[in-house]
Order: sequence, then structure tokens, then C-alpha cells
Amino acid sequence: MEVIANSILICVDEKEHMNTLRVVRKLRILSKRTLGMVYVICLGNCSSEYIEIINVGGAHKIIHGVSEQSAMAVCEKIIVENQIGLITFLDSVECKVLASMLATKLGGGLIADCIGIEYEGDGKYSFLRAAASDSVLVKIMCKDTKYQMCTIKKNSFSDIEDAKYGSGEVIEYYSTEERTDSMPQYKVVNREIYKTEGNNFIDNAKIVFGFGRGIKSPPTLMKLRELAERCSAKVGGTRASVEDRLIDEKEQIGQSGISISPNIYVAFGISGAQQHIVGLKNAKIIISINNNEHAPIFDYSDYVIIDNAEEIIEAALQIMKNDF
Ligand SMILES: Cc1cc2nc3c(=O)[nH]c(=O)nc-3n(C[C@H](O)[C@H](O)[C@H](O)COP(=O)(O)OP(=O)(O)OC[C@H]3O[C@@H](n4cnc5c(N)ncnc54)[C@H](O)[C@@H]3O)c2cc1C
Repeated sequence: MEVIANSILICVDEKEHMNTLRVVRKLRILSKRTLGMVYVICLGNCSSEYIEIINVGGAHKIIHGVSEQSAMAVCEKIIVENQIGLITFLDSVECKVLASMLATKLGGGLIADCIGIEYEGDGKYSFLRAAASDSVLVKIMCKDTKYQMCTIKKNSFSDIEDAKYGSGEVIEYYSTEERTDSMPQYKVVNREIYKTEGNNFIDNAKIVFGFGRGIKSPPTLMKLRELAERCSAKVGGTRASVEDRLIDEKEQIGQSGISISPNIYVAFGISGAQQHIVGLKNAKIIISINNNEHAPIFDYSDYVIIDNAEEIIEAALQIMKNDF
């Protein structure tokens, strides 16, 4: 007989609406096979809009208003009482800290930065992630642990299902006692502010232009950035472009960079190496421009243009300048 398996998402970052929605939908889809319930715990004070998104995504129970001090105790209680086997966390520092502490407390297996989860039957899940300095993708299973835990790399799931739910139970959590024994057992030894300037936030962009080694001249990159601005697109690129110091490390798309899920991705002079493609698996439409008709990227593209990418950028920019 099939095991009924409940799952949970623990999230904290209000800014990640779409990402949260996608993960909740993924858990709801998995729950169709496991016949389990999908729980979501929102840490901190979140807006009613955020709760509504989680509800529409298909959560059966949403617990919100959980304070940072009581997060460990509340999560542990809910997981244990409801026999939740699959425990997922969004990709944020707070969630990762909580994930590692909960894994230690519950004796669970924890896989970081997953880009895929599948149900393997009998209450067991497999988790996909990059390993060995990002050189391979591996599928991992927590064979002997009751709790299977993972943090999910941003934009790893697509808008796989359009179904709108919305009848989940919403529970506002009031902590009557702060259980100090379960409070985070760590202290901050140093705080460093990461530089964010220059980051063009491609991970949430609807349209992304990908820059590859097929474009050799920095002036063409400037033109591509101008074209992107006129099209309300963001610019990212391949590791080769990062190595050539043409684009920033934060703009690298792929296995050792970020994953994106835009509505449209336009690849300019990109060959289509697996390590790049893996970061695009949730792009809805891929358009590729490459002068080699056998470029592997064409196999993943909805529309292909066999031509000189530099000339296309030049021509498109002229059209935009003349028409707008
Ligand atoms: C462990 C590991 C991790 C990696 N992680 C990543 C990652 O996260 N992201 C990533 O992107 N890569 C990653 N790579 C590198 C990856 O394997 C490829 O080397 C890289 O993606 C290739 O980048 P590219 O397509 O820009 O360059 P190339 O492979 O050199 O392709 C250039 C393309 O441009 C075309 N071209 C040339 N001139 C023109 C022109 N005038 N007009 C149009 N087309 C033209 C060519 O036909 C060719 O297809 C990783 C590699 C390893 C080993």
C-alpha cells in the first residue's frame, strides 16, 4: 500500500512571490501522488497578498506570523505532529540556517541547492543538484532518514500548473511562550554587507538576453545592453562571457550560476552547453541566434535564427531607435 506523505515549505522572503508560488505548486503536484497535505510556514510578518499567493498555489495549511525566536520550536512541532516527510526551504540565508539546525535536531537528511524533486514511491523522494564543483548533476535520496529535507535553488521550478486552488486553511500563529531551549544556538561573529550595485536582477526578469562568446566585441555588448533596456529586458550570459570579463559573475546563467525562468530568453552567440542550458530549463520561450546551423542550443529553442548575432543586434537596435 502507498505511504501517505505530507510535505512542507518553510519560507521567509516576501519578495519571492513567484518563486514561492512555483514551489508550492510543485509540492501540490507531488502531493497528488503521495495523497498527502501541503503545509507552508511563513516566518515573520507577511502580507495578506503573500498568503493569498501561497493559498492559490495549493497549500492545504498556511501557518504565518511565526517569530524568528520561536521558528525552530514551531517548525519542529508542526513537522513532528503532522508526520511531514518532505521538508523544503526557500533559498535565503534565514531558511538555510534554520534548515541546518532542524536537520540536526530531527536527524534528517538535508540536501542544499536542489533544482529538482521527484517522488520515487514508498514515501521516498529524489533530489537533483549540481555537485563536484558543479561539474555534474546528481540525484540524491535520503535512504534511511524519516525526514527528507532540502533547500531549493531559486527559480528551479516552472509554472508547471495553472490550476488555482485557494481553499487552504490559514492559521495565524501566536506564540504563547518563547521556548528558549529551542532558540537558535548560534551567535553572529561578523556581519558583512554584500555589494549589490551592478546586479541587474535577471533572476526575476520576464525577458532575458543571453550573451555568449559568439559576440566578441565589448561595443556590441554595450549595444545589447541598450537594446535590452529598450525592450525592458535584462542581460545575462554564459560562463565563457564571465571568463572573458564581459559580464559580471552575478549575471552568469547555468549550473554554476543562477537559474532563470523568464517568459522569453534570447540567446545571442551561445553554443548551448549543458551547463548553460540547465539554468534555462524554466524559460518559457527560447529564441537563439547563432551562425552555426548545428549549434546545440537550437535543439532547445522554440525559434532559431541562423545568422550573425552582432548584425542582428545592430539591426534590432536601429529598428527600436527609428520606431520608438
Ligand atoms: C564545471 C563546469 C561548470 C560550468 N558552469 C557553467 C554555467 O553555469 N554557465 C555557463 O554558461 N557555462 C558553464 N560552463 C561552461 C560551458 O561548458 C560552456 O563552455 C559555456 O557555456 C560556453 O559558452 P558560450 O556558449 O558563450 O561559448 P562557446 O561554446 O564558445 O559558443 C559560442 C557560440 O557562438 C557562435 N558564434 C560565433 N560567432 C557568432 C556570430 N558572429 N553570430 C552568432 N553566433 C556566433 C558559435 O557558433 C558558438 O556556438 C561550465 C563548465 C564546467 C566544466
